[in-house]
Amino acid sequence: MTESGKARDTKRSHTTGIRWRIFLCLALFALMILMTLWFFQIRMLGYFYAREKFDELESVAEDLISHLETEHFDDRVDLTAKEQNLCVCVFRIEGSAATAVADADASSNCVVHQLQDELLSDLYDNARKNGGTYDRRMQFVKNDNPGEDDFYVPGMHDPSKAVNVLYVRLVTVEGREYMLVLDSMLSPIRTIITTLQVQFSWIVMLLLIATVLMAFIISRLIVAPLTSITQKAGELAAGNYDVSFEGFGYREVEELADTLNFAAGEISATDRLQKELIANISHDLRTPLTMIKGYGELMRDLPGENNAENAQIIIDETTRLSELVSDLLDLSKLQAGTKKPECDVFDLTALVGDTMKRYEALVRRDGYRISFEGEGEAPVLADRTMILQVIYNLINNAVNYTGDGKCVRVTLTRTAERVRFAVADDGEGIPPEQINEIWDRYYRVDKVHKRAVMGTGLGLSIVKSVLEAHHAAYGVESAVGVGSIFWFELPLHQNPNMN
Ligand code: ADP
Repeated sequence: MTESGKARDTKRSHTTGIRWRIFLCLALFALMILMTLWFFQIRMLGYFYAREKFDELESVAEDLISHLETEHFDDRVDLTAKEQNLCVCVFRIEGSAATAVADADASSNCVVHQLQDELLSDLYDNARKNGGTYDRRMQFVKNDNPGEDDFYVPGMHDPSKAVNVLYVRLVTVEGREYMLVLDSMLSPIRTIITTLQVQFSWIVMLLLIATVLMAFIISRLIVAPLTSITQKAGELAAGNYDVSFEGFGYREVEELADTLNFAAGEISATDRLQKELIANISHDLRTPLTMIKGYGELMRDLPGENNAENAQIIIDETTRLSELVSDLLDLSKLQAGTKKPECDVFDLTALVGDTMKRYEALVRRDGYRISFEGEGEAPVLADRTMILQVIYNLINNAVNYTGDGKCVRVTLTRTAERVRFAVADDGEGIPPEQINEIWDRYYRVDKVHKRAVMGTGLGLSIVKSVLEAHHAAYGVESAVGVGSIFWFELPLHQNPNMN
């Protein structure tokens, strides 16, 4: 395994797998549900039950109060006690004396009717302090001493034993004070709690099994596409560019698969281009070298061939070779970002005008018609040498690829903010499907690496890199059989201080 592979593995061993994470999340979720269930269903059951009873007693008391001092109040108390399974005592309070005015006993385990006077006055005092209402739980305790009475203690000590809920209400009707004491029994809830506990352990077990199953299924569903993608990415890394990534019907995974498919396509294209590039460069280097070697040997072995003409061929080939090497160097520096534009303000019109002079011999000798139209000064802030290289490459291409009319038109047009350089030829044009690719290194429309025309096959990639380094707009408009117009635009520099 490679060092980076080992490092990746070590890093991986410190991270948690999706399967585990999903399981932990689900387990946490299940735990929360269980805790909530336990808290409300078991722990707080007694409290909620008692609360309900109190509310019930309160509304019964309200109802009775509304019938106090009515003719059939006694019957009402009786009926209510029977209906609700309660014990009810209604006292009239006069000074420190309490006289029972109505009472009913429908509860099997009543406390109210066994209350001693002091407990009654204790309830009265508490209700008075408490603003007129008071409630208390009383636990029935069996007396173990034979012959002695069973008794009630305040509070709920043993949920398995019966507990009475007492509700006391003080009310004054037409100047007379009454005390209502209602007593209801809380059924022992131990059995309910035990039933719930048994149920609860079943729920825990089922939920645990469901959690494990769900974690397993969810993680399988999520992990399967990722595992497949990882395996295919490994194949891609090993050089198999034909792999195709699938999304398995998940939108996010589909997006990832699309990106990876696109990356695989790009890597494959880059790989192909790189191979072509090496083949082309080797070819381009070998051709002049073979010529130089051949002519050198010729001049060495045959004294009659040792003439200026042959020496010129060697010089020309050497020039071509060094042009190719410096173009390659420029391009790799530009693309690696090590060569940055050194910007100065200069007049683009003057620069293009000077460049046009280089083509005068071509016009005279080969009958080219090369025209230039510019509109006054066009100051720009740019790297003069680089822009010159761009102009030179574009005009060279126009000259090389123009048609039989040998017509090339260079124009410089200005707007308020920018200047546009364009070079038009009447050559064969470029098919639309290839127009984007001509900017790639060594891309040739006909794919035939001919040297009949000058140029190293790197011209447009250098143009592209330079213009992109200047953040300049550029492009080509071309029609097959009509010709092409290559153009770029630079912002006009507002300060007319020329260098
Ligand atoms: P070279 O000209 O050395 O082949 P370039 O990078 O300058 O390399 O151009 C790339 C390709 O773009 C050319 O091979 C040619 O097919 C096409 N091309 C460039 N300029 C023109 C043009 N003015 N007319 C038609 N085709 C062109």
